[in-house]
Amino acid sequence: MSVYSLEQDASPLLALVASILAFPPAAQASPAHYRRLFTDLRQWTPLHQIGLLGLSPHGPVWHYEEGLAPGLKAQLGREEPGLSEGLAALDGQQGWCVLPVQDDRIQWLLVQGEPHEQAGLRLLLECLAKRLAEASTHARLTDPASPLFGRDPDWQHKIEQINRILRLANSLPTQALLAQLDGVLQSSLGLHQLHLMRLGPKEASHLYPHPFQGEDGFLRGLCHETNPTEREQDGLYWYSTPLRLQQHYFAHLLLATTRPLGADDRLFLDFLRNQLTLLLELGQIRQQLNDFNSPERLNHRLQLLRQANLRLQKQLRQHQELERKLQFDALHDPLTGLANRSLLMDHLQHAMSHYQRHGGVGFTLIFLDIDHFKQINDELGHGNGDLLLKELGRRLQGCLRQNDLVARLGGDEFVIYLDNSLGEEGAGPVLNRIMARLAYPFRLTGMEQTITVSMGVASVSAQTQEVSELLHQADLAMYRAKRNGRARVVHYSAECAEQAWSSPEEQLTNALAEGRILPYFQPVIRLEDNCLVGLEVMARWVTREGELKDAFDFIPLAEQCGLIEALDHKILHQACQQLRLWLPRADLRKFKLAINLCGQHLASEPAVQALLDIIAAEGVYAGYLIFEFNERELSRQDADIITRLHELRARGIQISLDDFGSGFSSLNSLFHYPVDYVKVDDGFTHRMLHSPKDLALIRAMRDICRDLDLALVVEGIESQAQLHQLIELGCPFGQGRYISPPLPGSDITPLLGPETGLDPD
Ligand code: GH3
Ligand code: MG
Repeated sequence: MSVYSLEQDASPLLALVASILAFPPAAQASPAHYRRLFTDLRQWTPLHQIGLLGLSPHGPVWHYEEGLAPGLKAQLGREEPGLSEGLAALDGQQGWCVLPVQDDRIQWLLVQGEPHEQAGLRLLLECLAKRLAEASTHARLTDPASPLFGRDPDWQHKIEQINRILRLANSLPTQALLAQLDGVLQSSLGLHQLHLMRLGPKEASHLYPHPFQGEDGFLRGLCHETNPTEREQDGLYWYSTPLRLQQHYFAHLLLATTRPLGADDRLFLDFLRNQLTLLLELGQIRQQLNDFNSPERLNHRLQLLRQANLRLQKQLRQHQELERKLQFDALHDPLTGLANRSLLMDHLQHAMSHYQRHGGVGFTLIFLDIDHFKQINDELGHGNGDLLLKELGRRLQGCLRQNDLVARLGGDEFVIYLDNSLGEEGAGPVLNRIMARLAYPFRLTGMEQTITVSMGVASVSAQTQEVSELLHQADLAMYRAKRNGRARVVHYSAECAEQAWSSPEEQLTNALAEGRILPYFQPVIRLEDNCLVGLEVMARWVTREGELKDAFDFIPLAEQCGLIEALDHKILHQACQQLRLWLPRADLRKFKLAINLCGQHLASEPAVQALLDIIAAEGVYAGYLIFEFNERELSRQDADIITRLHELRARGIQISLDDFGSGFSSLNSLFHYPVDYVKVDDGFTHRMLHSPKDLALIRAMRDICRDLDLALVVEGIESQAQLHQLIELGCPFGQGRYISPPLPGSDITPLLGPETGLDPD
């Protein structure tokens, strides 16, 4: 059995290839020729739009077209390089095949067919492009001009002799043609020897005479890769020159003459070099056309094209899926799949404006927080804590009516929006259902656990101005429930706000003023060799009771009550101070300090300046710093932020896109913002070992970052298995508790190596 069994659809393709090979040169082809050719092609596959485009100094010239959508020409425009870029970008989209052509008249072939027939269509168009190039090259070859022509009858005679031979290029094999030329040159130039040699990466091969017998060391020595060479040896004058067309190298032409060449002889040599270059190019195009012209090769090329098509489609699907996932993740909590704060706020804004415009019953918010959840985490493990949060999310969801919504704000905080319900009476049935469902123990790994929750309830009223105000009231009521002994519901009343206890906002303000917001540092390593390449600065809140609060427990609060900028400044100050203490350590040169900042810092020129002032005041070289921004945050700011990001980069500060994949609207952000690092959200890392989708998405991000030359950092590595998987994927950098938890500065110092005493600046 033959290795290639001709595929069913290859024989009609073969017939079409044969008719393309007989197609006339572009200069002689009439619209009727093209119409006939494309009618033949249509019998095999539908063609929707066809265009043969030339590019003149005055703009695009459409030499032939069928069914081109009017919008397409406008979309492509008339100016270079936009036009060529647009054409190249169109290729592969929605069934389009767009191919460049090496012809004097036609420079692009554009055909839109059926996406699933792209492989075959591309093959035929490649063949047509080659055929047009072949005809064009042959025309140039047999229509040569030389300044010597017409100078005197002797030169005219020599050039005509050469032309006569070259006109046989279509019928004589190249070797025979060169032998004829050799003969003419011997008499006309006093030629002693003619050689064509091709330089390979390791050795040179003889194209003419072929086969060559003898020692060719001397000849090879004459072939200088880029320049012409001349040498006299044993009474012979050697001339060697490379034959190139644009960037394409074909061979070296070597001549030995019995007398040195004069000025006119050299002009003749130039003419000869041009002609031989065209001749070799023609030979090469012929070779490529032969590739099309046999069932085996056709079949083989078709298979290669199909594979390439499949690969591209798979990549496209992966990217589309990533885009969809990013959009979903932007609005949902990765752990429970419930709405996140962003979606909740959006939903509440709509409800609020509807209420303000149309009145109606109104709506109610329930703020729910698990009692002593930290203790559950500590005693049963974080994994069990997660299971509990998920199950709680499911149960809450089960208590709601169709137009209600439950969101997880973060940590163990949930907010429930109750549509069309007001006050204690309106919320009563749902509250009862929640309490009834939470009374059952939660089944965790290897154990059961009962929980209680504290809930605060607040309803919209004519006095409510903003949804954030309502959320705050529900929050205050929930805190009152906590203070009153937990495991209860409190409906908001003025008393909740008047209580003597300090609100979370006041507590945070005090903590900032008293220096109890501190930077911790989490190592970032190069995964392949475990080398420390950076530290991410993470804020920690030490409460008056000495408890340490994670950033995600209080950053949302700081954002809500407008303390976030002051908090970021405080952390930047302290991180720079710590950096200065570390400066004398040798390894410091090799790593960077990444600082999380909220998008507001990019909202105005003075805000950016404030950051630069802090760095300057602390006397730290800005090149050690990376500023991390969350893309969702960035997209809320105005368009000037791109300028401001550039400004920061101009000062040597690198930019990182944080939590990539968790809260982004689009992959476009990667093209949109000038960034150096992309940090994959830890949700992907946590799920990837069990979810092939998440694994595929990390792989896609790795490829995208590689293509865009961005450094990829994977967050949330919590186990050896995850680390190994990421190394196997070839992800460059990572961080997470398995590598090291965030540590106070004093614990990092020993990791930085001994002091060198050198000034790192
Ligand atoms: P209280 O009764 O006052 O609410 O006490 P608490 O222990 O529940 O304290 P608080 O609500 O302030 O703390 C919530 C804890 O939830 C803090 C943090 O360790 C934990 N946490 C935050 N996010 C997650 C998560 O995604 N998974 C798990 N397992 N725990 C989380
Ligand atoms: Mg709690």
